[in-house]
Amino acid sequence: MRLKLARASHTASHISYIRCGMKPHYTLLLILLTLAGLKGQERPTFISPIGGEIRLSGTFGELRSNHFHTGIDIKSRDGRGGDPILAAADGYLERIRISAVGYGRAIYIAHPNGYSTVYAHLDRFHPDIESRISDFQKKHHSAHFDLYPLAESWCVARGDTIGFMGNSGSSAGPHLHFEVRHTESETPINPLHWHFPYQKGSKPYARKLILYQFTDGGGVLQERTYTLVNHMGDFKPRAGKLKVPPGRYGWAIQAIHPFNRWRNKNGLYALESYVNGTLHYAVCMDSLPFHLNRYINAHVDYPLYCGTKQSTHSLFARPHQEASCLRFDGERGTVLVLDSSSHRIEMELSGIEGTTSKVEFVLEGRSPESAPKPEPKSGEQVSPFQTYRYSDNYISFTAPSQTFYSSHPIRISSVCEIQNSQLLPTATVETDCHPFHKRAELRFTQATEWPDSLRDKVFVGRFDGGRWIDVGGGWEDDDFVVWINQEGDYRMCLPGPPPEIQTRMNTVRPGQRAFFQVKPQTESAFRIKDIRINIFYRNHFLPYSYDKKYQRVGFDVPIDWTARDTLKIVVSDRWGQSSTYHLLANGLNK
Ligand SMILES: [Zn+2]
Repeated sequence: MRLKLARASHTASHISYIRCGMKPHYTLLLILLTLAGLKGQERPTFISPIGGEIRLSGTFGELRSNHFHTGIDIKSRDGRGGDPILAAADGYLERIRISAVGYGRAIYIAHPNGYSTVYAHLDRFHPDIESRISDFQKKHHSAHFDLYPLAESWCVARGDTIGFMGNSGSSAGPHLHFEVRHTESETPINPLHWHFPYQKGSKPYARKLILYQFTDGGGVLQERTYTLVNHMGDFKPRAGKLKVPPGRYGWAIQAIHPFNRWRNKNGLYALESYVNGTLHYAVCMDSLPFHLNRYINAHVDYPLYCGTKQSTHSLFARPHQEASCLRFDGERGTVLVLDSSSHRIEMELSGIEGTTSKVEFVLEGRSPESAPKPEPKSGEQVSPFQTYRYSDNYISFTAPSQTFYSSHPIRISSVCEIQNSQLLPTATVETDCHPFHKRAELRFTQATEWPDSLRDKVFVGRFDGGRWIDVGGGWEDDDFVVWINQEGDYRMCLPGPPPEIQTRMNTVRPGQRAFFQVKPQTESAFRIKDIRINIFYRNHFLPYSYDKKYQRVGFDVPIDWTARDTLKIVVSDRWGQSSTYHLLANGLNK
């Protein structure tokens, strides 16, 4: 839900309301800053959002599953959270978002200097903000929303407490995820380019080098991993000279930037690769436009990540790969090794505060006496610049140009089983862990007539961890179509019974925080997205928080609750199947 909030008629007492109408002054300042090239020292000042020295458990550009990290992660003072979170500069609340996943409870502040700051995974907002959004939640019967207060109607001053550190959304422990974005383009920029006080890290540490030999078509012919040895802070493979058959080569490095005495293995700021002393490839983490963020899957060795969850930095560019701070020569970071040619490779790994480490090795061409040819992988080849099509009796599959990053094999097949006289086809798409950059169309083309009562409930599930995960899909005449972005087994599914509640709440006390768990009944067979929850007290919607990772709903029992009162809780899935419960003073009843 994306809505605008009109100016509230009352004035909050604890958040300072500065005058927002200072635009001309700041516009001039912004022009001056742009002209000054926005070097660190000319940038407008932000204060630390925790009010003091920052300890980092995550850096900007860090390699995460399927994305580069677009902010910094700030540790809690005592590890438990609840630390007050402060507005980093004067501005207005641009956006308030509450979600069961992603950023959880998050605040976006726009500043007159042209930048916005984002504060995510909050436990709770400042009470003034809480009370205003609670009115909104009650009015719109929605606990989750994405709210855009009318510009400049809701101002904050630098240092105002806006909320408290937490673990909401897709967070693995209490911390503040903090971002600085260019307000107009919404592009996240490395916050540490502003002078926040933070504890510096140790020197970057490299663990492994991976060397790839490419085929003429740009696919990987073979690869080899070398453990790196630390020589006084610089890193080398045990044999400094790597003798390889002639061919085209590229390399990747596995490295971290340790912080807080190695407790946090954060990401690097920049990597440069030199061949015989000349810069060959460079990438840095200055800004991360969202439309380029999926290229993380081209930057890392995705098949390696897929098998081991280890992320690496590739120092060569795949076809159509882009990044805001990426430079390479005509060879896209690779080198052609000829018989008895020798190439001195040096890499410089930099941490954000300027510490560097070096990785060095020599690549030497040597004709193999009788080297065994690597087994070609089975399947048809996809090309990054061509549309790939497949069809059989039950399915068709179309991957448009630029769906894939490289040439590699693909294998597609289908089978069909009959359940309750219904044909249920399963499609198998295998890419040997090669990632999708764009979605590809998977079309179930079975001719069977589905009864109308079932047609509205069909969805496509992807098999993962012993169950079918709902990936959506929809009818196009007699075809059922879904857009997929990873390999796997896909099947047409029908949902099971409606979701259920589990709770240990036996007594209910006024003013107490109460919790219950929502378990989709079909969870053992399917994982369903979009569970909808409504809680009603005396026929009014009661705001609550829902944490999807724990499937946990939390709400405040109304202060005027009496033993005669009932809370009505309705949980429903996206097909409208629902279960209703009544919470009485003595517990929960269906
Ligand atoms: Zn984060």
